[in-house]
Amino acid sequence: MTDFARTRALFELPEDIVYLDGNSLGPLPRAARERVSRVVSREWGQKLIRGWNEAGWMDLPDTVGNKIAKLIGAPEGTVVAGDSTSVNLHKALTGALSLAGQRKVVLSDTGNFPTDLYVAQMAIRALGKDHELKLVAPEDVAGAIDETVAVLMLTQIDYRTGRLHDMQALTAKARENGVVTIWDLAHSAGALPVDLAGANADFAVGCGYKYLNGGPGAPAFIYVKPGLGDRIDPVLAGWMGHEAPFAFDLAYRPAAGIQRMRVGTPPILSMAALDAALDAWDGITMDDVRARSIELSERFITEIESRCPDLTLASPRDPHRRGSQVSFAFPEGYAAMQACIAHGVIGDFRAPDIMRFGFTPLYIGMDDVIRATEAIGRVMREKLWDRAEYRTRAKVT
Ligand SMILES: *Cc1c(COP(=O)(O)O)cnc(C)c1O
Repeated sequence: MTDFARTRALFELPEDIVYLDGNSLGPLPRAARERVSRVVSREWGQKLIRGWNEAGWMDLPDTVGNKIAKLIGAPEGTVVAGDSTSVNLHKALTGALSLAGQRKVVLSDTGNFPTDLYVAQMAIRALGKDHELKLVAPEDVAGAIDETVAVLMLTQIDYRTGRLHDMQALTAKARENGVVTIWDLAHSAGALPVDLAGANADFAVGCGYKYLNGGPGAPAFIYVKPGLGDRIDPVLAGWMGHEAPFAFDLAYRPAAGIQRMRVGTPPILSMAALDAALDAWDGITMDDVRARSIELSERFITEIESRCPDLTLASPRDPHRRGSQVSFAFPEGYAAMQACIAHGVIGDFRAPDIMRFGFTPLYIGMDDVIRATEAIGRVMREKLWDRAEYRTRAKVT
């Protein structure tokens, strides 16, 4: 069994708050602070340009990608880190469409994260091949997979409700119908066991700054199934994805496999932070993380429902049908979340009325959950949220 007291000590966490927002931005791993400081002073400061070769900077997208691969059931050499999730999704979708023949439909659902849909809308327009983005309700996705669909593009865990898609079953149905699959693992990687190889998914993307704790704006990742990479003509091509970047050829020749998903120069300070952050997962099984996350979130729901009759559970009640977050709906959810934060419990708010709380066993324990529910209970019972200052919306909610 994983020793979560040991992993908690790996993170810098302020004493006076309970942090239930690691699904949006993971906390600072102590190792990341040390690593970034070392990279800045000893590598950038002393080695200068020599760092690319001598300090392994050039290999970081692969080093980091391989660490992430272990958490998402991907074989070595199938994941690279870099760019943002949005940009990686663009690469995955345009790559998938280049493999999908004459079919025109990109199928997704209305619970998907807006950036995914924006990427799809505009990538389709830029390609100019009359593809069509078709959105159905999340529960209708399985029924909408047929032989007209080119690409199935889904986010496994709904960012608002935490509802979990059955990746295995949907990918299997897609394969039976000759549909290329793309999974967005933004709220899955580091949150629960994912088995990309077992599900036989074609593409996946995800974030480095959420459950992987890589820091604000950390590099994202992209997975391409073995054997598939070589068949893609990258739309977003750059020299780092060239077969020989330092040959400075005038013509683009894509590198082998996943390497052609690289575009430009990797952000080394951010890569180093994410690389160090990922060491927190050494010796941990995702099954233990999942079991603990369910224990924590079940207790949270029980406590909140008994203390806060005004809050309505917006997540699936069955823990096996949700990710590692719990959401409650409340019409004054924004003000209520601001009041919770002022009273020491950090979660976040998603329009129109969702108060969202993430459970991250690496550094959140049962004591934290109890402390959080006591504070939230008081905010709700005494209507502490009912103040003008809590209603003013900040840029980031
Ligand atoms: C958080 C999140 C993103 C974020 O994309 P960025 O490009 O990193 O801003 C994308 N997709 C989903 C499903 C997310 O939850």
